[in-house]
Amino acid sequence: MVNNYIVDNYIKMKILPNTIICLHEIHNQKWLNNVFESLIKNYHIVGLEELENYYYKNKNLKNSCHITFDDGDMSFYKNAFPIIKKHKIHVSTYVSPLMAKDRKNFWFQEIAGYNQEKLFVVSQKVTNCKIENVQPIGIKKFLKTLPLEIIWEIIKLYQKETNTPLKSPMNMTEKQLIEIKSSGFVDIGAHTLNHPILINETNAIASSEITGSIDQLSNILNCETRSFVYPNGDYGEREIKILKDKGIKLAFTTKREKISSINNPLSIPRSGSPFISELKNNEVYIFSKCLVQLLAGEKRYYKYANTWSSVFSNILK
Ligand SMILES: [Zn+2]
Repeated sequence: MVNNYIVDNYIKMKILPNTIICLHEIHNQKWLNNVFESLIKNYHIVGLEELENYYYKNKNLKNSCHITFDDGDMSFYKNAFPIIKKHKIHVSTYVSPLMAKDRKNFWFQEIAGYNQEKLFVVSQKVTNCKIENVQPIGIKKFLKTLPLEIIWEIIKLYQKETNTPLKSPMNMTEKQLIEIKSSGFVDIGAHTLNHPILINETNAIASSEITGSIDQLSNILNCETRSFVYPNGDYGEREIKILKDKGIKLAFTTKREKISSINNPLSIPRSGSPFISELKNNEVYIFSKCLVQLLAGEKRYYKYANTWSSVFSNILK
């Protein structure tokens, strides 16, 4: 059923609310180019400086969008960076300086493609959790309930029992981070050292993961680190305090809401993911067309609203 309420509201609004888009790996340049073109057509694309002014200096943002990329996957350098330079837009990316320096992968990159059943069996051995209690939530969600040390214990045992070698490095190098930063189009923020789910960790580990990533990143880039993204969007008062004490100005969550000046600048919501990243090339084109026409009040595009209601509701709400 067409979600007329949502559609009508958007037409009434005419102006898109301020939003922050969250993207991860980028494997299709053409797709990203289409996404950028549709966003550029409909929003003012702003950088972190405008966001800082919005939260700290009461400068208004109107119909603005900031685009973030999490994790520092090599595909950012190969596929996103050229398109960012082409459109001359300001974006931000959130990386681990340790992954860049030691050429290592995050735990979730390491387990991608692993046999799920075998991972369950190994997880059971390490944690003593009954497999039938774990299975309904899925292995990745289960691992996200554990401290990082246990997650790596599971991965190491899986690798040993299945003769699986460590994967080759999947993240950007220090040199690449310096290069994207010096382009002037990419701000780089910290994202912990090892991507733990911070709320599962002790005070000491949470603190060293956060402060270590901020300090090491500042060293690599030879400039102050001012922004941060919580791994998996999980955080609490403890994490906010650590960031505040380190002088971080902006920290992003994965809460899907439109942004507002009353947000705590150390827990800013982001929308757009995963819906926008699931669109195929031609879908992004239709989405872009549809969005423009809907805003212009053309009823013949209503029929697409059914398909895109989830996209609309996330990007436009
Ligand atoms: Zn992440």
